[in-house]
Amino acid sequence: MILPIVVYGHPALKAKNKEVESNYPELQKLIDDMFDTMRNADGVGLAAPQINKNIRLFVVDLSSYELPEDKGGQFKQVFINPVIVEREGEPEYFNEGCLSVPDIHEDVLRPPRIRIKYFDRDWNLHDEWFDGIPARVCQHEYDHVEGIVFVEYLSNLKKMVLHRKLTDMTKGVVNAHYKTISTKR
Ligand code: ZN
Repeated sequence: MILPIVVYGHPALKAKNKEVESNYPELQKLIDDMFDTMRNADGVGLAAPQINKNIRLFVVDLSSYELPEDKGGQFKQVFINPVIVEREGEPEYFNEGCLSVPDIHEDVLRPPRIRIKYFDRDWNLHDEWFDGIPARVCQHEYDHVEGIVFVEYLSNLKKMVLHRKLTDMTKGVVNAHYKTISTKR
């Protein structure tokens, strides 16, 4: 099932996210719905707060990148209760976008390598290092479970340039090809 995606300015993006309990009702269906919602919106990652669920869960599917095997290959994973325990390397810029901030793409500085602990959808515990695109997308999605949206990292000048667009978004003026919810409509 395709769910509406909350847009910049919606309180769900800034709320505190709870740990997922193993008896969380219909968790498998929620995960399937998140993959459907992400694919429908042409995204590569989606975090639970973006569909108005304030829990520590995100999904990533990098199939569309067609990465070589040593760069993550057909990277598709569910991250439950993730914790980034280490970040490594000289931070680099990469152009990011976000399904909750439609139509805005900006360069964001992040370290290239991370070590992340998480549970998969079968509740197996993982402790893994990622680099390249998988590390980038995981850091962006991890920020969502921490209540951070990537535009917060932009310079004051950039924020000024985008101010009108972001303010419009909080008022429900959204240019997206998928279903969205904003605070005021
Ligand atoms: Zn995002």
